[in-house]
Amino acid sequence: MIHKDIIVVGGGIAGLTATLSLVHKDRDVLLLEKNESCGGLMNSFERDGFRFEVGARALVNAGLVKPLIKEFALDIEILRNTITLGIEDRTLKVDAEQSLYHYADILKDLYPASKDEVDRIIQTIHEIIEDMKVLYGVDNPLFAKKKKNIMILAPSVVAWMLKYLRTIYRINKMDTPFEDYLDLLATNQSLKDIIGQHFFRNTPVFFALSYFSLYNDYIYPKGGVGAFIQELVEAVEARGGDIRYKTEIVGIDAENKVLRDSAGKEYRYNKMIWAADLKALYTMTSDEGMAKQAQDKFRTRKQAVMANKGAESVFSVFIAADLPPEYFHEKASGHVFYTPDRRGLGTVHTTELQTLLQRWDTVQKEELYLWLEKFCRYNTFEISIPVLRDPDAAPPGKTGIIISTLFDYKLTSLIRARGWYEEFKKKVEELFIFTVSSSIYPNLKDKVLFSFSTSPWSIYERVGSSEGSIVGWSFEGKIPVVTSMFKMASSVKTALPDVYIAGKWAFSPAGGPTAIMTGRIAAKQCK
Ligand SMILES: Cc1cc2nc3c(=O)[nH]c(=O)nc-3n(C[C@H](O)[C@H](O)[C@H](O)COP(=O)(O)OP(=O)(O)OC[C@H]3O[C@@H](n4cnc5c(N)ncnc54)[C@H](O)[C@@H]3O)c2cc1C
Repeated sequence: MIHKDIIVVGGGIAGLTATLSLVHKDRDVLLLEKNESCGGLMNSFERDGFRFEVGARALVNAGLVKPLIKEFALDIEILRNTITLGIEDRTLKVDAEQSLYHYADILKDLYPASKDEVDRIIQTIHEIIEDMKVLYGVDNPLFAKKKKNIMILAPSVVAWMLKYLRTIYRINKMDTPFEDYLDLLATNQSLKDIIGQHFFRNTPVFFALSYFSLYNDYIYPKGGVGAFIQELVEAVEARGGDIRYKTEIVGIDAENKVLRDSAGKEYRYNKMIWAADLKALYTMTSDEGMAKQAQDKFRTRKQAVMANKGAESVFSVFIAADLPPEYFHEKASGHVFYTPDRRGLGTVHTTELQTLLQRWDTVQKEELYLWLEKFCRYNTFEISIPVLRDPDAAPPGKTGIIISTLFDYKLTSLIRARGWYEEFKKKVEELFIFTVSSSIYPNLKDKVLFSFSTSPWSIYERVGSSEGSIVGWSFEGKIPVVTSMFKMASSVKTALPDVYIAGKWAFSPAGGPTAIMTGRIAAKQCK
């Protein structure tokens, strides 16, 4: 049996951050990752000379990524990642604070009868942007590389903390689902759809609308998101950290602090950080031998965790096009949130989807495809074109494109169970390509060299994320983990002795920044 002081399970951004923080302090750490490489939902891969991102299309700095690069002296070149917002034939590059008001002009143009409603929405976003400047705008002084002289650092920390606490208080109060909040500001359903239809259902309003400020905060590592991950891996290894790939943990004996992998190999730990799926942690843990009180605590937590589900997942279509990057550059930047039709999704993604799921046994393929066509026509897409940010991302004169949108895991599972999965994926590819070819990139459909796709099921299969979730818990149920930023430090604690959690399931709302943050907090707890 292998015995390590600290074992980290899961080599996504959370597990890697935790591991690096620990090895940097000369701790004896072993990182176990089920796949052949680290990164999880932050990764890149290459196919026939085209480089694509598996998950997050870029990094949100959030006052965390750049300090991380500096603190651990990572050799990463940061490239610009300009966001474009597009509706039908109007596009806007978000490159300054003023862009918000240009966006308002576009909305007023598209919805002339709703100018007051646009103003109210834009004013709310403006106030959130001011809060976000406090939260993420300045690099967090607590992550400064070396606290050389506490007296020098103290005033800035105190000032920052006061502003930070005031902001967090306001944020905690803005936890209403964004749909309900928008209802107070506007009645025009299409306008509300355009603002919010690419957010997860019931996202707290602050988190949803704060994305307008994060658009200016995206960065793209030279070599892709995967190059950043590779740097983290190399930094861990350079400090003597041990990473084992193709090692999937399938059993945990909490009382004796022993992990078991799928090949039957055992690992003993003093402390463990679980940076993978939380339902999996509670499902595979045996509480045998635990004292009655500890066992009760564990079972109560397990019940709460198992009763909830992950947020919506994503469908992504990867396309290699025989078109030069200049063709796409003329239309927009390399990272676009695009809605081809101002009418918006309306009830297609909510009521109509629910009806389809409820009477699934009687649904015919033709009916499903009719729904899918509407879903694609009125939806909002995230379009990523790596070569527009990094010229090395595609063969000369050609372009790789990723088009994605939020997608329901349950529907994907039902389609698989009917045996329609492969055909359905091809249909989605066809429709995504048709949609953008009928709008922003008309030449695309005749220039596709090859395409393929990933579904919510692929995400579940690859990283073991419940319901294929990319950002942890759904906002539609009672979230079983810490949701208040005031309590973030306790988010990593579990009902198991010396076991901490990190990553997208540890705190909500989640994403790249909270995965990094919880990774660092969990590492700190392993004193
Ligand atoms: C298309 C897409 C776009 C996104 N865009 C954004 C964005 O714009 N902004 C943002 O903030 N976030 C975004 N995200 C979300 C963000 O990428 C994730 O929330 C974040 O990367 C989660 O990191 P993690 O380490 O918590 O989990 P993961 O990346 O899921 O890592 C978990 C790791 O654990 C491993 N593992 C699982 N089970 C086991 C086991 N039993 N044994 C060993 N190893 C195991 C997995 O293989 C994986 O490597 C996006 C994600 C996707 C897919």
